[in-house]
Amino acid sequence: MPLLQIAPSKTDRERLLVVSPELAEALAAVIARVRGDNAHIPLVSRYDGAERTHSAALPFLCQRPTGVRNQTFSIAFVKQLLDRVVAISPIPAADGTALRFTPHDFRRVFATEAAAAGLPVHILAKILGHQTIATTQIYVAIYDQDVVDHHRAFIARRRSLRPSDEYREPTDAEWDDFVGHFAKRKVELGTCGRAYGTRCQHEHACVRCPMLRPDPAQHRRLEEIIVNLHERLAEARDRGWLGEIEGLQASLAGADQKLASMLRTAATVSSAVQLGMPTTPAAPRTVD
Ligand code: SF4
Repeated sequence: MPLLQIAPSKTDRERLLVVSPELAEALAAVIARVRGDNAHIPLVSRYDGAERTHSAALPFLCQRPTGVRNQTFSIAFVKQLLDRVVAISPIPAADGTALRFTPHDFRRVFATEAAAAGLPVHILAKILGHQTIATTQIYVAIYDQDVVDHHRAFIARRRSLRPSDEYREPTDAEWDDFVGHFAKRKVELGTCGRAYGTRCQHEHACVRCPMLRPDPAQHRRLEEIIVNLHERLAEARDRGWLGEIEGLQASLAGADQKLASMLRTAATVSSAVQLGMPTTPAAPRTVD
């Protein structure tokens, strides 16, 4: 399988790309033209206008003779070539004006078409030489309809892979259990965020539990709990109940952290409407 080595790339990171037969043919034609009667591709230095530096002498494929020596294509020269092609193209822009392309547009067009054809974005990021997927997502023009189409295709694909009995109507008992789970989420200091179908793994020690979404309205109650924990801790130390101390300290640390979270939430969203965790009241059964 032919591979194209790109070094250095835009991010100074070496990349290896799979070469399709069509690209291999085009590259062979370019190499033959650049090499001409020489045994090798001439070595030339490229000036980087952004960095204002000259590269080492390398066998660049995009080079042309100018006077007595070759020089690499400048961006302005590539734009001139594109303008010439556009001038004889019968394809206008959407508003009827002449199309304008920059060399960089081809990278963006490739990225958009590859993503639209279903290439996963993390693979596309590798091909483009991006260090993070976030950069690739900026590159790719995502249209609303694409999002809808891809999501539908994803759901259809996922359903086709799962056992069909997962998509049956729930029984009354299952539905009651589902609704009941959300009704039981409300606890003394807020709302329990554990997932449906899971049991409390933490013996209802909510004050220490990372699943608890603290309710800022309960901060007075939590302050009372903290005072009580301090008293119990002092008593445990006085009486030498060493087995209690560690647990009380853990509860106290959890309570302090939850109180800080309540106060922070109250301060930042005092003017916002608190929606809380989703709960499901007894409602007519609907299944998507
Ligand atoms: S201890 Fe945690 S998981 Fe258990 S009820 Fe409290 S918040 Fe939920």
